[in-house]
Amino acid sequence: MKIIDLLKSGEKTYSFEFFPPKNFSSTLELGINVGQLMKLSPSFISVTYGAGGSTQEISFDLINYLQNSLGLCSMAHYTCVNANREKIENDLKFFEEIGIENLMLLRGDLPKGENVLHEDFRYASDLIELAASKNKFCIGAAGYPEGHLESKTIDDDVKHLKHKISQGVDFIVTQMFFDNSFYFEFLDRCKKEGIDIPIIPGIIPIVNFKQIKRFSEMCGASIPAELADQMEANQDDPKKKYQIGVDFAIRQCNELIKNGAPGLHFYTLNKSRATVDIFESIDK
Ligand SMILES: Cc1cc2nc3c(=O)[nH]c(=O)nc-3n(C[C@H](O)[C@H](O)[C@H](O)COP(=O)(O)OP(=O)(O)OC[C@H]3O[C@@H](n4cnc5c(N)ncnc54)[C@H](O)[C@@H]3O)c2cc1C
Repeated sequence: MKIIDLLKSGEKTYSFEFFPPKNFSSTLELGINVGQLMKLSPSFISVTYGAGGSTQEISFDLINYLQNSLGLCSMAHYTCVNANREKIENDLKFFEEIGIENLMLLRGDLPKGENVLHEDFRYASDLIELAASKNKFCIGAAGYPEGHLESKTIDDDVKHLKHKISQGVDFIVTQMFFDNSFYFEFLDRCKKEGIDIPIIPGIIPIVNFKQIKRFSEMCGASIPAELADQMEANQDDPKKKYQIGVDFAIRQCNELIKNGAPGLHFYTLNKSRATVDIFESIDK
């Protein structure tokens, strides 16, 4: 099933993102959590792909398992940052052979200390152009409501997004954000630039506030002061912090859905409890 067909049908999509587990115990943990999340009948699931070699094989294995053994509508993330044309063409062929219809195509971040951007694939748009010219994939790409960290301005970023979409993108999934006004302003900017494909907001449940703060700094997502203050004030009370994070996400999701978001994409961090608690409480 192509995700764009789900979106075109007017049905809201609810999707869950996983990353490849690194060892045996995290594989078991992922299995348990996928089991819990499957009960929510997600519209699709996705598996991230790292620039480092060893986890790439695991991403491929996992997406193959989720798509073909569990029968879930799956989207494979794929990046061009560490790859040359031959590898990319082989990997796209692999996706086709295992029946993957949906790809999230990205440039990717360079592993620390490396500078291996292949000159043919400097941006995600280069990868998208190749994939769209050769295959019949439904293609998703990343969007940044607060701007990508390397962009001088959000307007520059949206212009680059427009170019990326013109290479064959069907829908966008956003970077995580906590203040919905960034998403709504981003929609306005995109509309002004003539972008009219679905833009699915990316939601990250705050289970571990320290970890989320670190991720937010890495990707340029700002945390509302009020939320940060509440978390700090309850730093010795894990149950209270959990509930603050879940309640915040429920309010955030409800506002997005009420105001016309085409769906919600949850960055599950391979955990299920918070995503289940949030999902079951939102007005779908
Ligand atoms: C939904 C989502 C899923 C993700 N999944 C993964 C994953 O699985 N694996 C992973 O490693 N990372 C993932 N990332 C992170 C992503 O790889 C990084 O944010 C990366 O830094 C940028 O990737 P991109 O595809 O957005 O790049 P691009 O679209 O290429 O943009 C990168 C930067 O270059 C600029 N730019 C683009 N085109 C041009 C141009 N022609 N001239 C000048 N500047 C230009 C853009 O404005 C931006 O600042 C994900 C991000 C999101 C939002």
